[in-house]
Amino acid sequence: MSADKRSALMSRIRGKDTGPEMLMRKYLWEAGLRYRLHPCRMPGRPDMVLKRWNAVVFVHGCFWHSHAGCPFFRLPKTRAEFWEEKLRRNRERDERAISSLAGAGWRVAIVWECAVRADSVAAGQALATWVRHGVEGIQIEGAGAAIRHRALESAIP
Ligand SMILES: [Zn+2]
Repeated sequence: MSADKRSALMSRIRGKDTGPEMLMRKYLWEAGLRYRLHPCRMPGRPDMVLKRWNAVVFVHGCFWHSHAGCPFFRLPKTRAEFWEEKLRRNRERDERAISSLAGAGWRVAIVWECAVRADSVAAGQALATWVRHGVEGIQIEGAGAAIRHRALESAIP
């Protein structure tokens, strides 16, 4: 197996380069926005970093990142305690990453998987608009067949 192939495979195993993330990357690229991917030295290794725009983007799976109130987030009935603990740790890690990024002056966007599934074009447009004009942190999420966005702070318990 070539090094490229292996690294592509490993990145899939780690949960990077997932479908929704690829769609958002493609959209930003087509909108003329350039980014770096998963920089190791940044808190939480954001999926995209747009240095020129002082913006970082996370594309979050609704299950792994406990998207509250989302139909794609349901705690499994078996081994519930194990999952609760695991997902709680993920949430804490997300919160720490977001607050250190915000503390370092980055604008932070979370695009939830459900937004990309509901309407990937609308989600991409909302994200590109936020990169260029957004002031505060944003999260973009699904709302039935449409998307909605709201300030990021309100989602951090
Ligand atoms: Zn969701």
